[in-house]
Amino acid sequence: MKKRILVTGGAGFLGSHLCERLLKEGNEVICLDNFFTGDKKNIEHLLDNHYFELIRHDVTFPISLEVDEIYNLACPASPPHYQFDPVQTTKTSVIGAINMLDLAKRCKAKILQASTSEVYGDPEVHPQPESYRGSVSTTGIRACYDEGKRCAETLFFDYYRQYGVKIKVMRIFNTYGPNMNPYDGRVVSNFIVQALKGEDITMYGDGTQSRSFCYVDDLIDGMIRLMNSRDEFTGPVNIGNPVEFTMLELAEKVIHLTGSKSKMVFHPLPQDDPLQRQPIIDLAKKELDWEPKVMLEDGLKKSIEYFKSAIER
Ligand code: NAD
Ligand code: UDP
Repeated sequence: MKKRILVTGGAGFLGSHLCERLLKEGNEVICLDNFFTGDKKNIEHLLDNHYFELIRHDVTFPISLEVDEIYNLACPASPPHYQFDPVQTTKTSVIGAINMLDLAKRCKAKILQASTSEVYGDPEVHPQPESYRGSVSTTGIRACYDEGKRCAETLFFDYYRQYGVKIKVMRIFNTYGPNMNPYDGRVVSNFIVQALKGEDITMYGDGTQSRSFCYVDDLIDGMIRLMNSRDEFTGPVNIGNPVEFTMLELAEKVIHLTGSKSKMVFHPLPQDDPLQRQPIIDLAKKELDWEPKVMLEDGLKKSIEYFKSAIER
């Protein structure tokens, strides 16, 4: 049966891929976005689809809709963007979660929260299982995002226990691919755009810090599997690619794949920048029969093609 599905943050990087997939699967999709970091270009090709609606709205204000499912993705994800207006970032995560959970409660809709590996902070346990409670600064420059997302998880579990709302909490690890904003300051977009333009590659710190990069198609597959998982399974569940790379390795791959003459230039490591990050995905394998399929090189090749055309637009 056709479901009516709300995607908050639907004009952003992940949201736009999700809207497209949900429409392809025969659903009605309502995309809600305030366009802080999202871009109409990401969803332009969906606008004349009869089953697609776009609403300009900020999740920090309540909204009344009739929906069967909600994917709550609204929140800037790149450090420069979420640190630009940190008070608004916390409001988006916390008040946004309350508004969307209230909507889910009233509609009896199922609701999925796009949480993050940042709930683990600068982790002392490596790699990270869902049971790890994290090492997060409450006062640093990343706290608006990390603590906002942690509080949102708390709200999800309290609405579940107190009101019986059907929840799914997904901890997303670094994801990349087409529709990323070329200038949003994340490492994959920065390195590829710099390499394509022949500019210096900006390496923060000595480049030995690590991340694990998941290609967007794998991530969206995991997200939809989680929404469709058995009712009793709430998560939190890690979704990410467990293959870990240092930023030096990433830069070398990008330079190689673009054939660029760019050189690496070293800058100070930003405050509270996590030194390592790698998901344990055993729970996702068991509950969702999910694991990522796209290798970093293949995903980077597709991303490079996208960024080539994005920087020309
Ligand atoms: P993005 O910045 O591309 O997309 C976020 C979208 O939310 C944008 O379209 C933006 O305009 C919208 N938005 C922001 N504040 C809003 C508000 N108050 N009201 C309505 N819309 C608002 O980021 P993304 O990478 O697509 O991330 C989507 C979600 O996934 C975010 O919640 C993010 O925290 C989470 N996440 C992403 C990653 C990743 O690597 N991409 C990792 C962990 C978690
Ligand atoms: N980074 C970098 N150069 C850049 C952008 C980021 O070296 O131009 C580093 C950053 O310090 C961090 C890693 O790359 O250690 C991942 O950064 P990103 O902002 O993509 O995501 P997050 O830190 O939230 O995982």
